[in-house]
Amino acid sequence: MQTELFINGAWVAPAEGNTLPVIDPATEEVFHQIPAATAPDADAAVAAARAAFDQGPWPRMTGKERAVYLRAMAQGIRDRLPELARLEVRDNGKPLPEAEWDLGDAAGCFDYYADLAEELDGEVEEIALADGRFTAKALREPLGVAVAIVPWNYPLLMASWKVAPALAAGCTMVLKPAETTSLTALELGRIAEAAGLPAGVLNILSGKGSVVGQRLIEHPQVDKVAFTGSGPVGSRIMAAGAKDIKRISLELGGKSPFVVFADSDIEKAVEWIMFGIFWNQGQVCSATSRVLVERPLYEPLLARLIEEAQKITIGNGLTPGTLLGPLVNQGQYEDVLRHIARAVEQGATVATGGKRPAGLEKGFYLEPTILTDVALDSDAWVEEIFGPVVCIRPFDTEAEAISLSNDSRFGLAAAVMSADDARCERVARAFRAGIVWINCSQPTFTEAPWGGYKQSGIGRELGRWGLDNYLETKQITRLVSNDPWGWYIK
Ligand code: NAD
Repeated sequence: MQTELFINGAWVAPAEGNTLPVIDPATEEVFHQIPAATAPDADAAVAAARAAFDQGPWPRMTGKERAVYLRAMAQGIRDRLPELARLEVRDNGKPLPEAEWDLGDAAGCFDYYADLAEELDGEVEEIALADGRFTAKALREPLGVAVAIVPWNYPLLMASWKVAPALAAGCTMVLKPAETTSLTALELGRIAEAAGLPAGVLNILSGKGSVVGQRLIEHPQVDKVAFTGSGPVGSRIMAAGAKDIKRISLELGGKSPFVVFADSDIEKAVEWIMFGIFWNQGQVCSATSRVLVERPLYEPLLARLIEEAQKITIGNGLTPGTLLGPLVNQGQYEDVLRHIARAVEQGATVATGGKRPAGLEKGFYLEPTILTDVALDSDAWVEEIFGPVVCIRPFDTEAEAISLSNDSRFGLAAAVMSADDARCERVARAFRAGIVWINCSQPTFTEAPWGGYKQSGIGRELGRWGLDNYLETKQITRLVSNDPWGWYIK
């Protein structure tokens, strides 16, 4: 486990010597101290990234050359996958098979963007102009120094969604992982080092968002900030970036609906509703936390859902068979418990869960929780809870289901299930959300665009859209006519 920051290709102690404790959410024990960067470290990292971009080889290489490094990083993650997955579990709490899945995806993300880096090489678009005296072409170039600020729910995966496309594009980067989960992000520095990445291309600073993060988002030498996290911090990033017109992409929260029609297979509906809200302890921005069930299916489905939710094995993520681990930290645990108490105050019924599971006295554990009788104007229906807590209510018509789904300031994801394909397609198109699942909830693919409508964010990650985040478009126009222009000189 690392104790230093990765700046300009070297491991260095934080300038002010600060550290932050790393707490295992399953045991509440402190098991490591990570370095806590402050403003001078942010300045050093940005200076290194700036020099690597302005004078170094990285942005001047071909995409094919950069792809070699990206593939080596993918392989570096794969080679250390079992060890990294265990680190992720100790840091974040998630069950080991989920961490293994995340890290496989992280490696896949580097491979995917290696392919796209290669495709960038030939990408010059000749533009047909109406005026035959000129020719024009458009090409895409790396936009400069990018900062990535990522949350704690998928630590290395969220970092990879930003680092891989930024490097593929030819940008240089400063990565700031979340203070609660920085271990695997710091290991990415070792992986980059082993891959031979030129100094300064990737710099990694663990530390507090309010300190090092704030300095990075305000830094005048930074061209772009890519952020995943909460709405209030997203808003600060926009405000800070407004000063010098930084490029900004934001992946923020959600309160995503899952509409289940009465012709659905009840077992499949229960399975996907659970996957949509209990996976990763519900700490998923796209979690389908508002479930709407067509009335004839509502009671039988609710009964089966409660039955299955109560069977979920809760425990330490490292214990084989665990399907639900602890929440990430004490603050998040208390927040989710507060949300549940408030839901009850506002008239909701806890159909199951809502409390610490029996026999697990230590660790930030919470039973899978199902809330019914949730008023449409109550906080539980409107606000993101970011825990294993689902609100479920019946609906009567398709129009009502669509209107309830879209009645949110968020628009990250939405899901619909029905045996009627045409209805699924109709509802999918009616959702005001950036990600829509039909007959399932949550499967996420590196090739497909990811991001939200409304207050769920700006821009898209993943796929070719993820690469566009780190590119500028340049037009080159050439005068090819020998005729005099004749404006000033006749
Ligand atoms: P957060 O916004 O508090 O923190 C996210 C990151 O921002 C962390 O690295 C943190 O250190 C940093 N940060 C905090 N204050 C900062 C500041 N002033 N300047 C710069 N950086 C700062 O969110 P969180 O608690 O880590 O994550 C939970 C939230 O993130 C949830 O609300 C969830 O909806 C959202 N989220 C969204 C997605 C998505 O893809 N849209 C994914 C995961 C999480």
